[in-house]
Amino acid sequence: MYDSVPMRIFIALFLIILALTVLALAQDPCAGTRDLKLTNGKIHTLDKKDTIVSEVTIQNGKFTAIGPAANQRAERKRDSAQPQSLSPCTKTINLRGRTVVPGLIDNHNHIVLLGMRPGHDIRIETAASIADIQSILKDKAKTVQPGEFITTLGDWNMKQFAEKRVPTLAELDQALPAHPYLMNGGGGTVTNSLGKKFFESKGIAVTSTGVIANADFLKALNALRAIQTFDDMKRGTTDAINYVLGFGLTTNVDMGAFNLPGTPDLQDSAVADTVESLNQWTMYDAFLALHREGKVNTRLRIFFLTQDTRPDVPILKQRLMNTFPNFGDDMIRTAGIGEFATQWGLRGGGSPPNYQAALQLIAKQGWAFQQHTLSLAEDQFATSTFEKVNTETPIRDLRWSLAHVPRIDRPTIDRLKAMGAGIAVHAWLYLSGSPGNGGPPYRTILDSGIHVGAGSDAAAVSVFDPWLEIYYMVTGKNSAGELINDGQQLTRMEALRLYTSENGWFLKEEDKLGTIETGKFGDLVVLSDDYFDTTKVPDEGLKKLKSVLTVVDGKVVHDTTK
Ligand SMILES: [Zn+2]
Repeated sequence: MYDSVPMRIFIALFLIILALTVLALAQDPCAGTRDLKLTNGKIHTLDKKDTIVSEVTIQNGKFTAIGPAANQRAERKRDSAQPQSLSPCTKTINLRGRTVVPGLIDNHNHIVLLGMRPGHDIRIETAASIADIQSILKDKAKTVQPGEFITTLGDWNMKQFAEKRVPTLAELDQALPAHPYLMNGGGGTVTNSLGKKFFESKGIAVTSTGVIANADFLKALNALRAIQTFDDMKRGTTDAINYVLGFGLTTNVDMGAFNLPGTPDLQDSAVADTVESLNQWTMYDAFLALHREGKVNTRLRIFFLTQDTRPDVPILKQRLMNTFPNFGDDMIRTAGIGEFATQWGLRGGGSPPNYQAALQLIAKQGWAFQQHTLSLAEDQFATSTFEKVNTETPIRDLRWSLAHVPRIDRPTIDRLKAMGAGIAVHAWLYLSGSPGNGGPPYRTILDSGIHVGAGSDAAAVSVFDPWLEIYYMVTGKNSAGELINDGQQLTRMEALRLYTSENGWFLKEEDKLGTIETGKFGDLVVLSDDYFDTTKVPDEGLKKLKSVLTVVDGKVVHDTTK
């Protein structure tokens, strides 16, 4: 009877229906929903009144109620006829008294570059000794197949280690007996025995203590780039995303990478291949691929970096003609041009002759812009050029800014303020600064009333960890504990505001990002300790803060509370 055609059709249909039923039952009807209610917390909203509440509600990825009482009001306002009830998928999390702050925004980092690092990247920015480095490496080794490369490229300085030196080959072997390793940054380049074997097979000299000469580092880097696959880049990008979520960074304003020699229309003599260089056309591919798979859990805002050398700025022109500003979605969107638009030649004493032409074009097309500066001369040159452009195309609503500004003075700040430009401050001198080489002048900048926000500039010379950045802003002390920025310290509230409520401005997203208020993105951080309590968290304790639970877009994307 099994041979009869109707019976076969019947059995086939039965099996299909059975399979569909099983699938429907197995599928969580609330999977992917972005509805949360957090109760019993100490939730610092960072709204204009510094309101603290015990409860917040997120529906469909946005804050809908701040505090239990406001809950009712917010719902009535939206639809007075039919008070909206919470989605049945709303998950309640009891915070058990923990401190919550808005999701942190880094207004200038290089997270795309971090994701593209060859090898399994591990940061050592929190290490205070060689033993700390060893323990970080041992932990990383547990997650990496033996034989695969582990790397630490940038964002550390010898100053931060008690020993004031880099680890030796023997010390690296103790931590990583089964993985080749390469470490490069503020103190040179070192490798372990397995790394030595690999690099020597590529014709790169390594000393018996594991040191690779500075002149050979690029060769070593390119030997690793040569074996990197696109899947490696995606895996590296996922690692980078998870790394920053562990600190509570929920938005990253990426400032690109140096252009590679061979970039069309760029004089090769003007750019060098470095640990901070990437192909500017393909560097976003891994991030975008992950986004298409729904796997990007921290917000990315893209500033495009170009280094035009020709007077008619052809590379920048193509970028402006072929890219939509502020295009994308709430997780990834294009946001601006920076931190360079032209080859920036001031360090050599000259000034880029095509700078004004470049900025004029950026203003005409209505893009935000951010310019890297390291000296007062650079601040003044950029400011003068902003002023010239401003007479033709007002920049007041374009969110232009200077970045880093370790040496800026009050007259230059006031000129920027008069045009409606802002300042992005970064604490990279936490790593490498010394007495007499501190800055930026946070207090002077804040007291001027100019728009200011903070970030890290991490991926080679700074630290991603916002709590180390905030430690520097609050104490003026570098990674070696030396006071290097005295008289320019900020309060904890001021520093946190620079990392949250003040950073939406640079993206024209101040109505969506940076505070816990009704209608804004449901991004927040549950902290490991009470940031505002100087008894529980003395200044040195700021360095140990991290996120125990990070929420982005109403979804829990990092959780160590279980
Ligand atoms: Zn930068």
